[in-house]
Amino acid sequence: MNQTVNQRDQEWLEDIFQSTWNEHFSDVKRVNHIRVEFGRRAKRRLGSISVDRNNPGQSIVRVNGWFRDEEVPEFLIRSVIVHELCHYAHGFNSGSKDRKHQYPHAGGVVRREFAERGLENLYEQQQQWLHKNWPSFISKRYTAHRKPVLSTRRKRSKLLRMLIS
Ligand SMILES: [Zn+2]
Repeated sequence: MNQTVNQRDQEWLEDIFQSTWNEHFSDVKRVNHIRVEFGRRAKRRLGSISVDRNNPGQSIVRVNGWFRDEEVPEFLIRSVIVHELCHYAHGFNSGSKDRKHQYPHAGGVVRREFAERGLENLYEQQQQWLHKNWPSFISKRYTAHRKPVLSTRRKRSKLLRMLIS
């Protein structure tokens, strides 16, 4: 018997990454190599792209360690990878010297990049899912022994503002 349970391991993450690149970013000049990994579990940071300190020819996309949890839909993980690849395509942490914009999030450039790549629906789905589910997802996991971290509407909306960047 060779039945495997769906596990969100490194291979699973790499498959999503690779298909996202192939389907939506294959036109982008690959300057640095990119690897993808699960980062730390975090309340606010969904993903990041950086250059490996020990190897400037290597970029690293990290996604929130909480994304191993099956309650987070796969499209959300894909949308976070797309977000980071938009930065890469714009020349941030990609090894490229040309940046298409002065700042990574200048004037909605990430959203526009999703749209130009035919991914506007994914962007919308991401926003809706985060608004609807992230505060409670996080509260459930951080409040076992403490006062709820997201007890007020203000805290919740602050969290969401920080998240979507
Ligand atoms: Zn960003």
